[in-house]
Amino acid sequence: MYKGDEKIKNKIIIPVGVSVIVLSVTSVILSLFLMGIIRLPTAEEKSSKVLPDIIKLTDLGSATELEGNVTLVSVFANDSRYSWDFNDENDISARENIFSYTKTAADWICEQAQRYNKTLNISYAEDSKSDLYYETAFDEKCLDIEKSISKSALPEWKYIDSKIDNNAIKSKYKSDSVVYLIFINQKEEYGTVAFALSFYDRVLDYPYEICFLPYFFAENVISPSVIAHEILHTFGAPDLYGYDEYKMNYDTTVEYVDYCRKNHYNEIMHSTFDISEGVIKRVYDRITNDLTDITAYYIGWIDEPPAEVDEFALVHSQHEYYSRHKQDKD
Ligand SMILES: [Zn+2]
Repeated sequence: MYKGDEKIKNKIIIPVGVSVIVLSVTSVILSLFLMGIIRLPTAEEKSSKVLPDIIKLTDLGSATELEGNVTLVSVFANDSRYSWDFNDENDISARENIFSYTKTAADWICEQAQRYNKTLNISYAEDSKSDLYYETAFDEKCLDIEKSISKSALPEWKYIDSKIDNNAIKSKYKSDSVVYLIFINQKEEYGTVAFALSFYDRVLDYPYEICFLPYFFAENVISPSVIAHEILHTFGAPDLYGYDEYKMNYDTTVEYVDYCRKNHYNEIMHSTFDISEGVIKRVYDRITNDLTDITAYYIGWIDEPPAEVDEFALVHSQHEYYSRHKQDKD
């Protein structure tokens, strides 16, 4: 073989070899893609799991700390489908029940706060003479889960802003936070479930929170645990029983929900039913669910995220940034 041939051979072999390697690597990557083993991150996944600066440090929406003085305002509302009749004995006793369940929920949340060394006082309407008690009527359908998904409750915001002096309530009760509990006299067994507007990833332009509470749903009358569960949402607690279908629940996944079913079965954000006697039922004179570190973290009672937060790549609690910002300012 002549030297010239050797050169020509090298000229051919090197590019061919490189091409073969490139092609094989490409085809391996391509098949991994096709098998779904590797994939490109979506635009949402590319964006960090932490919240944008503007929300971190300015308006934290509902996530003012669940500390200090919290005021619950009870609004008994008629809407296009359901109404209250306080001349009717049944509705009078339903309202009495709601006052009592609200008290049980508030007392229970305060007990939980003590366990985490937080000072918390909750004021609420104990009867219809309270200045934290209101009645109103909306033309539209109040119980619409779409409100929770779109984080918008225009008729209710408009009503509160025009008919209730929220500032006067805040100054009288020295409230750090105000939560409106809107009770609807829904009577259908399979009607809309209770829900809250939870603003953990978006600025809330209103200085108060709202929960929508049907009197009857899922075959049962509302209970203290349901009221407590919804109030906790407004301070940042995510649901632990359903994955994040609508980008409103900290990126919880099916795997995480599965983990919660095994590890947080009795957590109040996983279940509002009583299981203490081996049967699943509602209880009305107490709350038998637990409030554990995962909820404590998302409502700002502990700063360190429990290991499961990063293990399941959940969005971190906005309270982390709130505490950090407070420290920076001190
Ligand atoms: Zn919930």
